[in-house]
Amino acid sequence: SERPLASRLDWPAIMHWLPDRRANAHKGCFGHVLVVAGDRGFGGAGLMAAEAASRSGAGLVSLATRPEHVPAALSRCPSVMAQGVIHGSELPPLLQAASAVVCGPGMGTNFWGQQMLEQVIASGKPAVLDADALNLLSSRVPVKADNHILTPHPGEAARLLECTVADVESDRVLAAQKLQDQYGGTVLLKGAGTVLASVDGTIDIVSGSNPGLATGGMGDVLSGIIGALYGQLEDVRRAAGLAAAVHLAAADRASVHKGYMGLIPSDVIDALPLIYRESE
Ligand code: AMP
Ligand code: MG
Repeated sequence: SERPLASRLDWPAIMHWLPDRRANAHKGCFGHVLVVAGDRGFGGAGLMAAEAASRSGAGLVSLATRPEHVPAALSRCPSVMAQGVIHGSELPPLLQAASAVVCGPGMGTNFWGQQMLEQVIASGKPAVLDADALNLLSSRVPVKADNHILTPHPGEAARLLECTVADVESDRVLAAQKLQDQYGGTVLLKGAGTVLASVDGTIDIVSGSNPGLATGGMGDVLSGIIGALYGQLEDVRRAAGLAAAVHLAAADRASVHKGYMGLIPSDVIDALPLIYRESE
């Protein structure tokens, strides 16, 4: 198949893509992100995504999660409007208010998560589909939507493509292109050397590696950043590329003091403001 030239995106070179924050700006200028996440046992995933969105300039952030996760979410991050949802039917009013949705972190693949994903798809809203949303997608009638951003790690990509992880890793650009072709929208294939395949056929690479990112929850942070930037930028390629670059830059910044072994997702979230500040 055709192989477009890939451009490399890195934070200092693309930070000017971020939207201006004019002196008289108000929260209505910067989007409302809804994170749909966190079935029983996975309450932290949605919270990490929502906190990362809150630290990434979103005008408003809502979290739709299992009711038992709400008190912890409010106490950890009061800027997030955490809502307990039990049935899929509770989601449409929340979706209606959102400008971008992040669906999937810790969502599980049971009935609760299935209902949530179906409502997100039916809403037609711009959506980041991550983690269990991708796992559910792989066993569902394919949806093709150009306003979706899919963020698989190699394992999730392999499940969606019905191939092995080794197949994905042997040609990451081709795997991202195949997923883009199958599902439409924008595909961000994660891992060291993240590949971004856009609607117009453009391929971008966010190169750089940080082994401290190889731990649970780091992808949830990324999906929150993407959701926030997607809510602020019309250009999906720029939103996704910026998010991947910022995520890596924040991890590198956090690693200066914390190293790799001890790095946890909240360290990366805490470094986000330091990275964004470089662009202001
Ligand atoms: P997940 O597997 O969903 O938790 O996502 C992990 C996140 O960390 C993704 O954004 C990956 O691109 C990133 N990541 C994991 N390992 C590395 C690595 N060795 N170098 C750079 N980024 C990584
Ligand atoms: Mg993940």
